Amino acid sequence: PSAYRDRKVVVLGLARSGVAVAKLFHRLGADVVVNDRKPREDSPEAGELEALGIPVVCGSHPQELVGSTTALLVKNPGIPYSAPPVAAALELGVEVVTEVEVAGHLSAAPIIGITGSNGKTTTTTWIGEMLKAAGRKPVVAGNIGRPLCEAAQEVSADDVLVAELSSFQLKGTTSFRPRVALLLNLAETHLDYHGSMDDYAASKAKLFAHQTEEDVAVLNADDPFCAELAPRLRARLLPFSLKQRLERGVCVEPPFPADGQADEAAAEPQRMIVYRDGSGRELPLLPAAEVILPGRHNLANALAAAAACIAIGAEPQALAEPLRRFGGVEHRLEFVREADGVRYYNDSKATNPTATTTAVGSLDRPIVLIAGGLDRGSDYMELLPLFRSRLKGLVVLGQTRGKLARVAELAGMPDSRVADAGEDAESSIAQAVRLAASLAEPGDAVLLSPACASWDMFPSYEVRGDMFKDSAHTL
Ligand code: ADP
Repeated sequence: PSAYRDRKVVVLGLARSGVAVAKLFHRLGADVVVNDRKPREDSPEAGELEALGIPVVCGSHPQELVGSTTALLVKNPGIPYSAPPVAAALELGVEVVTEVEVAGHLSAAPIIGITGSNGKTTTTTWIGEMLKAAGRKPVVAGNIGRPLCEAAQEVSADDVLVAELSSFQLKGTTSFRPRVALLLNLAETHLDYHGSMDDYAASKAKLFAHQTEEDVAVLNADDPFCAELAPRLRARLLPFSLKQRLERGVCVEPPFPADGQADEAAAEPQRMIVYRDGSGRELPLLPAAEVILPGRHNLANALAAAAACIAIGAEPQALAEPLRRFGGVEHRLEFVREADGVRYYNDSKATNPTATTTAVGSLDRPIVLIAGGLDRGSDYMELLPLFRSRLKGLVVLGQTRGKLARVAELAGMPDSRVADAGEDAESSIAQAVRLAASLAEPGDAVLLSPACASWDMFPSYEVRGDMFKDSAHTL
């Protein structure tokens, strides 16, 4: 980035990352201009930049911002390549990047780059926890919240920069080279932005494009796209798998059956998470059943996180404790506490029936579900099979409590197992937790996964989740 002294740099998008990039290049002596399509009134950050002497253009994306003297365009990942200044830059041969590319040039610390369609935030957070437990100094940033180039300016060589990366961010890289690159999985999402699955997959693959034999690629051996990518990479491979016995990598022993095969071994209590280093050395890390974070998908995230930490040099044995106790990301199947043998989980982020279905399906304990909230006319009948097969009890609250109680009735749940916590913003959550605790027995889970938005009683799902956690802690 210091090569841009006295040269023209255009920053598109005023979000936190845009502000960080603009300040950085300004400090390095570049001639920076920032542009956002939003009107000035909606761009509170503009004043701060102007006070530093950085011009800010608001209200549209004028093509004229980019000209033959422009040396670099740094764009917010959400801005499409068809936006006039981006299109003009590409036409003129001006380099177009996202702040991830800039961060890669700045970081004195080795980088672990994490991407995938699902599980990024969970795995990134988990890697941070594992590295801390292993005595390293992780700095977590990127798509997860803090702009990567801001964090990259602060880290030193003995830190580890743990970067969550979206496909949008990766698409705008030209030489980004993480020491460890992790691809969790690839599902067909975000096609609206990328236009095609090929473009989306190519963006994800960019994470590995500049790696060498000194770097490590952590790939999901159970994912068809990863399997296809693996032989094409230059980096050393450290795969992870739930379903295959790996000679080198992190896997479970015995493996879970492949899709379509009978799931007889699924309840295997002795299944271990193991690391094999490829030279015949096998290290058992932890019994899989001891991982508190529920769900098979989270076990995959656990293996991925452990592999990434081993790849960056963490002592494998130090990972057992953080593998076990990691409580997940706030409000997403977050483990809250265990009381009287009952585990409490906060999934307040589940604001529709599909999300609740996923959460319920992730827990392998009998469940007392707390659900209900704003009525947006969703089809709660979608929950009926789940109520029938998976619920030990149900506590309803909020606007939709009548509708949900009706689904429980149709599912054949006895009245004694369905409780109503009312619709009072002050007391309903605490009441729901008390009712759920009385319906649960040791070995069960109490799960707040409302299937509804929170605004009937709360300002946000975060407040709803926090109140649930407070109530669970004061039981
Ligand atoms: P992301 O950051 O990629 O959006 P999160 O870690 O925030 O992912 O998880 C979001 C949701 O995605 C979870 O609540 C869960 O339902 C699902 N999920 C998480 N990890 C995986 C995985 N490895 N495979 C499939 N689905 C997953």
